Amino acid sequence: MAAWSDASRGDLRPTGHGPADGVPLVLLAGELAEATHSRVDKVAWVTQVHGSQVHAVQSEEKAFGLGPELLHLGEADALVSASSGVALCVLTADCAPLALASAEGVFGAVHAGWRGLHAGVVEAAVDRMRGWGATEIVGSLGPCIHVECYEFSQQDLDTVGEVYGDGVRGRTRASRPALDVSAGIAAALERSGARMAPGVDACTACGDGYFSHRARRDLGRQALLVWSTSQTTKQ
Ligand SMILES: [Zn+2]
Repeated sequence: MAAWSDASRGDLRPTGHGPADGVPLVLLAGELAEATHSRVDKVAWVTQVHGSQVHAVQSEEKAFGLGPELLHLGEADALVSASSGVALCVLTADCAPLALASAEGVFGAVHAGWRGLHAGVVEAAVDRMRGWGATEIVGSLGPCIHVECYEFSQQDLDTVGEVYGDGVRGRTRASRPALDVSAGIAAALERSGARMAPGVDACTACGDGYFSHRARRDLGRQALLVWSTSQTTKQ
């Protein structure tokens, strides 16, 4: 299962300060688990650095507290797991939050801005899932900055276009060169043999109710959470 929050849940970043650190995020994970009759003991998150590093999460031990516990796994931009009880989290405000799923129960969460996309984070996450036995992999994209709002320098556009094709080249509303991140994600999935499925089609910059770094310099972040609804641990 995957769910994308909007700004109505507040800033979901665990800040590393104070007793309330990460509480809104674990509350959300607990609610989603309950609503889907799933077990979520751990919410795994990473410090995102716009690279292609993938963390694999194997966590069999149950948490002792009443709700889920936070599990910080260092720096990375993608998480994969096959464990029930673990929710994978990435935090965004314009970058693409991509949920990955497979029939084999291996799942993933990817944070992809243009640098991460160009560094191959989508392909790296899909590869890691295949290493764990996933065959048919499906990706769903959540709220991110859309092409009409994402003005881009011609030089950077060429850099991304060289790897992912001319489909990433778009225009803003004002007809300036723009990056189509969604097209880039779709191309990255296709070249890894995965396919795109519908997610949440909303622009964080001009849509209502999202944090946007680029449009408003928002500091807050919305979350993507991906977890297994299976009650038995597959790995
Ligand atoms: Zn927009």
